[in-house]
Amino acid sequence: MVENEKKLDSVEMESNWSESIESFEDLNLKQELLRGIYGFGWNKPSKIQQTSILPFIKSRDLIAQAQSGSGKTGAFTIGSLQIIDSEKSEVQALILAPTRELAQQIYDVYVFIGEYMKVKVLNLIGGTEVKESIKALENGVQIVVGSPGRVLDMLKKNYLKLSDLKVLILDEADDLLQKGFLENMKEIISLIPTECRINLFSATMPKEIVSLTDNFMNNPVKILVKNEELNLKGIKQYYVTLKKEWKLDTLMNLYKGLDIAQAIIFCNSKKGVDNLAEEMKKKGHMVSCIHSELQMADRAKVMFEFRKGVTRVLISTDLTARGIDVYQVSIVINYDLPTQKETYIHRIGRCGRYGKKGNAINFILPEEKDQLDSLMKFYDFVIEPLPQDLSQVK
Ligand code: AMP
Repeated sequence: MVENEKKLDSVEMESNWSESIESFEDLNLKQELLRGIYGFGWNKPSKIQQTSILPFIKSRDLIAQAQSGSGKTGAFTIGSLQIIDSEKSEVQALILAPTRELAQQIYDVYVFIGEYMKVKVLNLIGGTEVKESIKALENGVQIVVGSPGRVLDMLKKNYLKLSDLKVLILDEADDLLQKGFLENMKEIISLIPTECRINLFSATMPKEIVSLTDNFMNNPVKILVKNEELNLKGIKQYYVTLKKEWKLDTLMNLYKGLDIAQAIIFCNSKKGVDNLAEEMKKKGHMVSCIHSELQMADRAKVMFEFRKGVTRVLISTDLTARGIDVYQVSIVINYDLPTQKETYIHRIGRCGRYGKKGNAINFILPEEKDQLDSLMKFYDFVIEPLPQDLSQVK
């Protein structure tokens, strides 16, 4: 079974693009855009930015796969800001993300980088005032960042018009093209102009997803950044084998023994998140938690406080597994091992951002040992037993 699975997925996507630039100046970007990039503190393009901004400028469809935390958001933010015409008030770039939290984060990057451009960006996500979104759309925006449900709703009601769209970007594309989102995505794609570029970004790009793209992409540039610049080597991975009833005590021991800047603890269910948060609070720990059943305003508050470092420990479902970028996160704990191997990569990528060091610690039930072995085999990395002496975990 594991072997078959490996065969199915192991055909890596081949890059078919070799052009790359050394510096942001090499891209002949608009002056105001360049100012925004430098103003944001980015002096040199990351590996994925060196290769994947050019296809935007050259009007090509693109599939880009690069490590978590390697600057993908910057790549498509810069690429799309370069090609939009800020004199026009029509929507020219539409960016979709699987969660509201990620859409919000992307929106923030557009606002920062586009600071010196005359560009209006709208965050179109569920759980927010529809009236406000409609008003903003009526006043004219050039860029919309959203989650598929609200975007489709606005499209169907004809408030959002895509006749001038130049680029559709799917962040965490493999997630967006899976069952839960696929029908919405097909509908959105059917509504974009034929000449609109489609660009897909993710750290994981399973082969089935890449084959699916044949149906709606036009001879895409494919860029696969291997783990040479920033990679999982920055993240040390450990496991502890334990019984279910030992998980909480083990977590408490880790708490005592580890130096945690900020940490995310992942559970596989909403109930698991709530229960763990409650147990930890009973033990006197300040933790916050997030999952999709919380009200939007609460979700936003939790993320805001975590990003600001007001709270140091976030207990979460896979809602924050993808894309969420909090630089200070030094530890990811898989309180429950994820069932999908792609999810594992995304979860642990929440630490070790942009070349920083991080530690991922997995709680493994005895019956999950095979799953752990198959992860190591599949991704060809090592997950070591957690040392008794926690001072060795740095
Ligand atoms: P991302 O992979 O898009 O989530 O980006 C990961 C982190 O890298 C974010 O904190 C970005 O602000 C940062 N980043 C992206 N591009 C650059 C760059 N060219 N120079 C420095 N930091 C960057």
